[in-house]
Amino acid sequence: ETIGTALARTAETWPEGDALVVVHQNVRWSWAEFDRRVTELAAGLIGLGLEPGDRIGIWSPNRVEWVLIQFATARAGLILVNINPAYRTFELEHALKLSGCRALVLAETFKTSRYVDMLLEVAPEFAEAGGRSARLPDLEFVIPLGKSRGAMIGFETLTGFADAAARTTLDAIIPTLRPDDPINIQFTSGTTGSPKGATLTHNNILNNGLFVGRIMGFTEADRLCIPVPLYHCFGMVLSVLACITHGATMVFPSEAFEPRATLEAVQAERCTALHGVPTMFITELALPDFKSFDLSTLRTGIMAGAPCPIETMREVIAKMNMREVTICYGMTETSPVSFQTRADADLETRTETVGTIHPFVEVRIVDGDDRVVPVGTVGELHTRGYSVMAGYWNDEARTRDAIAPGGWMRTGDLGVIDERGRCRIVGRSKDMILRGGENIYPVEIENFLITHPGILDVAVFGIADAKYGEQVCAWIRRADNPDGSSLTEAAVLGFCEGRIAHFKIPRRIRFVEDMPMTVTGKIQKFLMRQAEEEGAA
Ligand code: ATP
Ligand code: MG
Repeated sequence: ETIGTALARTAETWPEGDALVVVHQNVRWSWAEFDRRVTELAAGLIGLGLEPGDRIGIWSPNRVEWVLIQFATARAGLILVNINPAYRTFELEHALKLSGCRALVLAETFKTSRYVDMLLEVAPEFAEAGGRSARLPDLEFVIPLGKSRGAMIGFETLTGFADAAARTTLDAIIPTLRPDDPINIQFTSGTTGSPKGATLTHNNILNNGLFVGRIMGFTEADRLCIPVPLYHCFGMVLSVLACITHGATMVFPSEAFEPRATLEAVQAERCTALHGVPTMFITELALPDFKSFDLSTLRTGIMAGAPCPIETMREVIAKMNMREVTICYGMTETSPVSFQTRADADLETRTETVGTIHPFVEVRIVDGDDRVVPVGTVGELHTRGYSVMAGYWNDEARTRDAIAPGGWMRTGDLGVIDERGRCRIVGRSKDMILRGGENIYPVEIENFLITHPGILDVAVFGIADAKYGEQVCAWIRRADNPDGSSLTEAAVLGFCEGRIAHFKIPRRIRFVEDMPMTVTGKIQKFLMRQAEEEGAA
C-alpha cells in the first residue's frame, strides 16, 4: 500500500469522522473532505508540471497546508523534502541544493520571520515574472502560502491547475506508484552536528505510523493533540500517519509549540492523546495555572526524542492522566521508531527503559568491532528491518558508514537489553564521557540532579581536561521556586556528595536561562561543549 491509497481507504471507512482540527486556522475537516482536497491539490501539482520522483520542499510551521501537501505529494508520487522552519537562508539553500528541489512551498511569515523575503535573498529572480534562479537552477516553482506575485505561484491558486487533463494524468500515475518508492527526504535533528537527509519510502513510514498507533491502541474514537513539529518524523509519522492508519483525529493547537495553547486544545477538543518531547511536558506542567485545565479525557500519548526524567514521567501519569503514555525510541533513519513501551507497562519499564522491540524489526547490540555482546552488556544498538531508510540522499559514502553489512543500521546510541527484552538507552556513543578510564553516562547524572527541587532542567556533558582526558560539566536551569532561586554551585555539589560516585560529580557547573536546542526541543550538547571550550580558551 502507498500513503495515498491508505488515506483513501480511511476516507471510505469513516467519511464523516473528523480528520483534522487546526485550532489556529479555524479549520475542521472530515476525512471525506480532507481526501477530496488532497486529490484536488495532487492534480494541481501535476497540472503545474511536476512529475513523479520530483522533489518538492516544504518550509513552514504546522499549518493545514502542510498536511495537505504531505498527502498530495504522496498521492502524486512526488518526494517531499521537509525543511526545518528554524532554518535560515544558508541552511535553506543547502537543503534545496542537496535534494535538487524543483518546487518549494513556503510560509509567508512565521513568528517575526518573513520566509518569502528570505527565499528572495537566495533567489531574487523570483520577484519578477518569468524569473529563474541562477544559484538554484533546479528550482522552477516557488509556492508561497498565499497569493501569486512575480514568478511565484500562490498556494491559493494551485487547485486552478487541477483541470481535466491533470486529473487524467493523476489517475494514470496512482496505480504506478510502489510502496518502495522514496516519498520523503527527512533531515535528522542536527543534535550532534549538521543534519543529514534520510531517504524514506512509503513502506518505511506508513508501516511505522501504523505500528506506533496500534501499540497506543488507537481507534477512530481517538483524538490526538499534536504540538510537535510536522517537518520532523515525530509530527509526520508518529502523529499524522499513526492517525490516518486508524481514523483517529489530528488536532493542531498552534504553529509552533506553545504550552498554553496545547493544554487549551486538549481541553476544548477533548483529546485522548498528547505527544511531546520531555521538555514540552516539563513546560506544560510548569504553567502557573496548570491545575485549571481539564485533562481528564487524556489516556495516552508518546514521549520521545530524548531521555525522559523520572520525575516528569511520574507527573505526566499522575497529573495529566496519561496512564498509558508510551515511550518511543528511534531515529529519523529508521522511520523512526524501533522500541516502544506498551500501554500496560509498569512505571519502572516506562522510566528506565524504552520498552521492547517493534513488530518486524530486529535488534543487536555490538562492541566497537561489530561483534554481538552478551545480554546485559552495554554496546551500540543496531536495528534492521522494513524501517531502515533507503539511504542518505545522494550520499553513498555516508550511507555506507551508517548501514553495516547485512542491512544493520548503526544507531550511534549506546544501549543494553535485559532478559525481558526491554532496552535501556545509556546515551549517545559520542556523548559518553571518558574520565580517566571511567565510562560516565551523562543521562544517569541528569536523572539524579533533576530530583533536586530547585533544578528545572539539566544537561550533563564532557569537556576536555588536561589531567583526566575529560571532565563532567553540568548546565542547570533553576526552577521558578524558592529552592531554585537560592540554588548555588556549592548547594549542587553538597547535594551530589555522598549520593553519587565522586568521579561523576560535575567539576564545572553553569546556571543558564536557556539551553541550545533544536526546534524539536533536543538539547544540542555539541554547542554547549563548544561554548565551554571557547570560554576556557
Ligand atoms: P543528528 O543525527 O543530526 O545528530 P538526532 O540523532 O538527534 O540528530 P533524530 O533522528 O531526530 O536526530 O533523533 C534520533 C536520536 O534521538 C537517537 O539516535 C537517540 O540518540 C535519541 N533518542 C530518540 N528517542 C530516545 C529515547 N526514548 N531516549 C533516549 N534517546 C532517544
Ligand atoms: Mg542521529
